[in-house]
Amino acid sequence: MLLKEIKDIFHKELGEIYPKEEIDSFFYTCIEHYLKLQRFILAIQPGITLTKEEEQPLFEAMSELKLEKPLQYILGTAHFMDLELQVDENVLIPRPETEELVQWILDDCQKEEPFNSDAVRPPAARVGSQMVIERSRNDHSLRILDIGTGSGCIAIALSKYLPDTNVFALDVSEGALKVAQKNAASNGVDITFLHQDILNPELEFASELVFDVIVSNPPYVRELEKNGIQKNVKDFEPDTALFVADEDPLIFYKAIINFSERHLQENGSLYFEINQYLGEETKALFNHRNFSEIELRKDMFGNNRMLKANVPSRGL
Ligand code: GLN
Repeated sequence: MLLKEIKDIFHKELGEIYPKEEIDSFFYTCIEHYLKLQRFILAIQPGITLTKEEEQPLFEAMSELKLEKPLQYILGTAHFMDLELQVDENVLIPRPETEELVQWILDDCQKEEPFNSDAVRPPAARVGSQMVIERSRNDHSLRILDIGTGSGCIAIALSKYLPDTNVFALDVSEGALKVAQKNAASNGVDITFLHQDILNPELEFASELVFDVIVSNPPYVRELEKNGIQKNVKDFEPDTALFVADEDPLIFYKAIINFSERHLQENGSLYFEINQYLGEETKALFNHRNFSEIELRKDMFGNNRMLKANVPSRGL
């Protein structure tokens, strides 16, 4: 069949669900992914035809798009900053807003002086039952923890773009950790993954284990917001990564702030992605806490989306 005809079928079959530009984008992304054909192929070779085998994955992708399955899950890949990541239904598809959060951390860390080697460093620490994480006296690397890592996008980007970091990432979902581990390997970074539930009151991190940066994009969409959420998100992305009960929507933030009070280094920073409707409420969680310089930031769409808090230095 002519490639051009397949493009027309995409438009005919998907036209009721998606805008024209999005269908074009799906079509070209699919031909690039499955057939390694450049986007401009139809302009230079309008008569190009495909064999039955070549057509098949395109039609399969089209059927899944008809069910509103996100293209990233269909292809099994997503892009985050300039990383290519594997994704499946165990993990959220990385969002551009989360890229902005990572960029904030990168900007802050790159501004800072190289790490002060004289600072008192914690001794060896034990996590869980088997894991021993040691930091020797002359280990000056920045120690980062990503809570609820999902695909690993935040942890992997920080590890890749910040030299000399020691990145840890935890998630409650074993399925997510498998995906994140593969992504770390394919992007050539070394991350310590921990299978832990941040809501578990018995979460056992040795008290000496401290971090310079803790970051999290926890579940924050309230059940009451479900109606406004697109079908492709609601039906395909993992509920555990997205939704929280209306009665206690900041449950993860509370747990992470408690955890951070014990596990952030002096002068360390906590970064959150947040629910745009709960900016002030999330900020208020830091009242009467041992944090300073609480800063709320908007994302590219003008919504309150990020928050940063510092741990003041004790000497001041
Ligand atoms: N920003 C995501 C969305 O669009 C939600 C991410 C989260 O709950 N952490 O649905």
